[in-house]
Amino acid sequence: MEKLVFIPNPPLGELRVGIMGGTFDPIHYGHLVTAEAARWEYCLHKVVFVPSGRPPHKKDYPVTAPHHRYHMTLLATASNPYFEVSPMEIEREGYSYAIDTVLAFRRIYGPEAELFFITGADAILGILTWKDVDRLLQECRFIAATRPGYQLERLEKVLVQGRHRIHPIEVPALAISSTDIRWRVKNKKPIKYLLPEPVEDYIYREGLYRG
Ligand code: NAP
Repeated sequence: MEKLVFIPNPPLGELRVGIMGGTFDPIHYGHLVTAEAARWEYCLHKVVFVPSGRPPHKKDYPVTAPHHRYHMTLLATASNPYFEVSPMEIEREGYSYAIDTVLAFRRIYGPEAELFFITGADAILGILTWKDVDRLLQECRFIAATRPGYQLERLEKVLVQGRHRIHPIEVPALAISSTDIRWRVKNKKPIKYLLPEPVEDYIYREGLYRG
């Protein structure tokens, strides 16, 4: 990829926008560090967090109600001026497909803006089966965040078939995981310092993840 230069307040056509897609059940420091690392590395002008509505690949798993995940995402990102949160997926009817989200961003930011869809490497492993994958890869680049110890060879097939539009980044803070946080709350273990304090307070106040 060509060397990128950060231009403050660019014209619309030169905007580089990160779309941070995830279930965020709950959002934690690993997600926030990922978004900040991607913003820095790819000179993004902003990163918009998009909590998923009804994930098509989680039909058989219970996912916390979208309004809770949206509120926790708002609380977690409030202090970073480069971060925004969009309710577009939780307000959309039906399943949440990345292509619908990316095309909505394209309508907002115009044909010249560069879009980067940021998410976990394990989610991107399945990208070749996502709806309209060819159009997706045409419309945006993908940033695949890996946890420490992740074997990059696992991504080899999608990196090759992804037409050089998928870029892995290693994020040490992704040792934190939403699954582990849910398990900790259920088993009355501490979650302090794994996620922002307002999110921790929200989880206890709303009685989330108690089992
Ligand atoms: P997931 O299967 O719950 O997560 C896979 C792995 O990636 C988990 O280890 C997860 O860690 C991590 N992860 C998820 N989002 C991340 C993020 N933004 N930054 C860093 N790590 C992240 O994946 P998901 O959250 O349901 O889906 C991820 C995104 O892919 C969503 O935007 C979803 O809509 C999209 N997606 C689209 C399609 C489609 O269009 N057909 C299909 C699948 C997924 P944590 O559990 O700690 O978050």
